Amino acid sequence: MRLFYIGGIGRSGSTLLERVLNELPGVCGLGEVAQVWDNGVRDNRLCGCGVPFRSCPLWSRIGEYAFGGWDNVDLDRISWLRDTVGRTRHVGSLAAPWLGHRRRSRVREYVDYHARVYTAAAVVTGARVVVDSSKDTALAYCLRWAGPADLRILHLVRDPRGVAYSWTRRVHDPESGTDVAVPMFPAARCALTWSGHNAAYDLLTRLGRRRRGAGAGRLVHRMRYEEFLADPQAAVVTLSRLAGLPATGVDLSYLSEGEAELSELHSVSGNRMRFTTGRTTLRVDDAWRTALPVAARRTVTGLCAPLLRRYGYHRPLPVLSVPSRTDAAESRLPQRQKV
Ligand SMILES: [Zn+2]
Repeated sequence: MRLFYIGGIGRSGSTLLERVLNELPGVCGLGEVAQVWDNGVRDNRLCGCGVPFRSCPLWSRIGEYAFGGWDNVDLDRISWLRDTVGRTRHVGSLAAPWLGHRRRSRVREYVDYHARVYTAAAVVTGARVVVDSSKDTALAYCLRWAGPADLRILHLVRDPRGVAYSWTRRVHDPESGTDVAVPMFPAARCALTWSGHNAAYDLLTRLGRRRRGAGAGRLVHRMRYEEFLADPQAAVVTLSRLAGLPATGVDLSYLSEGEAELSELHSVSGNRMRFTTGRTTLRVDDAWRTALPVAARRTVTGLCAPLLRRYGYHRPLPVLSVPSRTDAAESRLPQRQKV
């Protein structure tokens, strides 16, 4: 089983990107696994397939395989482990070259809960690649210490002005049937949050892999959300290679003319578009250019300036390079299986 972890910050387009990936043969998208414990197991919120978590056939099978049923999961223990090793404030210590025995043991235990879900998903669906779009920065660092041997991380970046604007809009909540405001933060806080998490993923990129036998290549790859939307087909070819899937001969007929034909994704959290299926528009949402107040735009631009330049937001989008390397051993994938 290979884990493809999508990292970054909320409102960066990870839900859409994961759903597009989820259409590839041999791929199983799970949404934000870090939220499964609270949103799914504890609160029984709606899965992306439209039924409550505990009634979802896929999650029921995953829970049965991983834990003998979700009732056997110690939610208090997971919450304690998260507070002890899995919060953003722990990233600094997780980036150290070594961990003390006690901390290492707790990281392993925390990761093991997630790893059981990944493994179970691969087994019950037959997928070779499991996608977790948690984005959670501390979890990414924990996975580097104790996650699956074949771990690949996509650092997804979106223009911080688009992120800041997205954090100020009211969204429709399908579960309550009402429009709700997502948590609103001052522009400066948005900018610092964006910079902090993205800088942490840059550091993770430099730290690289920890263990031998995890295969060659980098642990973390970066993609801009705007690049993905500018040429979804080329982006999916690139993502296929990063996920260890065939980079050529992939049926991309579900992608055409700025649209994608999407099936359901069994996600218990994330963007509300996780509930929609069928033809979905793929386009850059740049409403922030006119709708984000000038003062907020200047604040975000100023505070994020170093990383804006680093990620190339000061110049036009580059043309995506199409990978030429194909892994012949992976040229035959099992038929996609869905529950
Ligand atoms: Zn479901």
